[in-house]
Amino acid sequence: MLDVQKIRNDFPILTREVNGKPLVYFDNAATSQTPQVVIDAIVDYYSSYNANIHRGVHTLSQEATDAYEIARKKIQEHFGAKRAHEIILTSGTTHSINIIATGFTSLLSKGDEIIVSALEHHSNIVPWQMLCERTGAILKVIPMNEDGELVMHVYDQLLSNRTKLVFTNHISNALGTINPIEEIIEKAHRVGAAVLIDGAQACPHVKPDVEALDVDFYVASAHKLCGPTGVGMLYGKEDWLNKLPPYQGGGEMIEQVTFEKTTYAGLPHKFEAGTPNICGGIAFGVALDYMNSIGFDNIAAYENELLEYGTQKLLEIEGLKIYGTSKNKTSVISFNLDNIHPYDVGTIVDKLGIAVRTGHHCAQPIMDFYNIPGTVRASFSFYNTKEEIDALVEAVKKAKMMLS
Ligand SMILES: *Cc1c(COP(=O)(O)O)cnc(C)c1O
Repeated sequence: MLDVQKIRNDFPILTREVNGKPLVYFDNAATSQTPQVVIDAIVDYYSSYNANIHRGVHTLSQEATDAYEIARKKIQEHFGAKRAHEIILTSGTTHSINIIATGFTSLLSKGDEIIVSALEHHSNIVPWQMLCERTGAILKVIPMNEDGELVMHVYDQLLSNRTKLVFTNHISNALGTINPIEEIIEKAHRVGAAVLIDGAQACPHVKPDVEALDVDFYVASAHKLCGPTGVGMLYGKEDWLNKLPPYQGGGEMIEQVTFEKTTYAGLPHKFEAGTPNICGGIAFGVALDYMNSIGFDNIAAYENELLEYGTQKLLEIEGLKIYGTSKNKTSVISFNLDNIHPYDVGTIVDKLGIAVRTGHHCAQPIMDFYNIPGTVRASFSFYNTKEEIDALVEAVKKAKMMLS
């Protein structure tokens, strides 16, 4: 069981007020809050061993390099990768996806097919459309149903020997649906396609095991799991990472450079051109330690409790409709009130100190499916409480009264 009050003390921001009310932070699907241990790691880096990594013989550089490589090891262990050099540190999920989408340019031909899901974040749609434009490959979409679940029998029909790549998120950021990625991966492999899973929204809630999943690529951002912004990871099977060309040219990613020819460094450096977010990488490792010290089983159990409570309480409000009603979902509640615009609800709720997200959540195709401009999205984390949900319910009731 979680001691939520104790956990809340780890997060200095949770004591602040917004518009004269205690902050209720329900925008965790956009970014999580930062515990003191992670803040301390950032301060410690810049206060005591800030230096560029991998190139220096001096002590500071070696200390920074060691800390950075320890972080890579922690990420490797957390995600269950066999080898540390299969973990590429990136600026985040979007960057990770673009490394793969760009890399596949030379591996695809006209008429090849890429399958994505209807539940994707824009960062998981646009790079594939650009890849299709460059190569003449064709984008196919696994549709969704009213509950916000992927329609798997259509996926079966889309798969063929023309399928080269399948991309889907592990958990939808807009609706919270947990996708059946085991099945998606297994079926894609049967036709010889590679699979990339966007874990940005899953990693705050579950601990994926890339080896057990047998996934080809898995990506995530630190800032959604208590780490800082601007850093993330790309896991790739060694064979795939060796096959793909580098994404950017620059320092760190080369072995030898002459004006005639450059040879690239081995993994992981081949994909890590330029000075990375050193401090961010180190803090990412500390954030994983922190989350693991709480335990992902505990986190999932408690967040499910919040999800059930929140769903039940919100549905008591007349005219409130929840989008994303799969039985397999995490603690994200996307909803609308009658015909009231989500932005108006969000504004009133903010006046009462409550942070929710309104809009299309970078997933416009989902909003088009439901024929709505957007939703109000409340996403809960393990540091949230039922009392905070009660405050949200009261605020939404108030918004309804003021706006209808
Ligand atoms: C947040 C998110 C992204 C984008 O992550 P960045 O850190 O902004 O690159 C991609 N996919 C999903 C499912 C997300 O939730």
